Amino acid sequence: MLMKYTSSESPSRKPRLTESIDSPESGILDERVLVLVFESLKWDIHALSKTASVNRRLFGLAKRLLWRKLCVHHAPRMMSTLIEAGRIMGGWHALAKLLFFCGGCESTRHFKLSHHWPGHFVKSTRFSKTSGRSFLSGRCTGDVLYVTDPCEHVTKGGEQYDVGIYRGVFRGFMKSRTREMLISRQVDFEAGVRCPYCGARVWSMTAARMIPRRSAARRLGSSDNALEYFVCLNGHMHGTCWLVRLSSDDEEGEDSENGPYDYENGNGRML
Ligand SMILES: [Zn+2]
Ligand SMILES: [Zn+2]
Repeated sequence: MLMKYTSSESPSRKPRLTESIDSPESGILDERVLVLVFESLKWDIHALSKTASVNRRLFGLAKRLLWRKLCVHHAPRMMSTLIEAGRIMGGWHALAKLLFFCGGCESTRHFKLSHHWPGHFVKSTRFSKTSGRSFLSGRCTGDVLYVTDPCEHVTKGGEQYDVGIYRGVFRGFMKSRTREMLISRQVDFEAGVRCPYCGARVWSMTAARMIPRRSAARRLGSSDNALEYFVCLNGHMHGTCWLVRLSSDDEEGEDSENGPYDYENGNGRML
């Protein structure tokens, strides 16, 4: 006989299905079921956020499995490139937020604004590593950085420019030339600014003198010197710029690595 049963644990004991109903651990009998549910919801970030906040067990399952699946579903090529470099720094939850959340902006040391814009979810975003190259300084062009187009925030009160807010992520930031340079130049972390995605401390790339202003401004449709961006300890990037109001006749037909990530079933609306 391979298995022994104590007097209280007979072979006829009822399965855990029924006993778990009133247990605090109740809920998921099989995580594959939950994966199927989220597949049917097209990996809606709001549904997953709510699910992960139900209890500790679901939070743990999301952290271990579901956030990664959400990211891979929405940006498969970008994720396979990021995964190649090893562990996802800052976690999958932060990366999922980066995919769908414009972090807003407020005045910083090198970029002054008359008021601040709160962050907001976006329905679709285009990330491009071709765009990312425009934000890497000359000695760091071997790094891989994905960057979005700027999210346009219209200014009020007759200001000449609108504000553009953009975000991105490095592949394998720990081994990147950008990080190496930030450390070798002994750039201080920027006081009062945190990464909107993982909460880590950030470097100002203006303070580090590592912004290739001409190429970055051209990519964003901004004017020279009217931009700033930060990179966090985990390799997330977020930034702001003044956008020139043009008729945009000269928009380039850029390649896109993974976009746009449109929700198709109406689940992508903002909460
Ligand atoms: Zn925005
Ligand atoms: Zn971060």
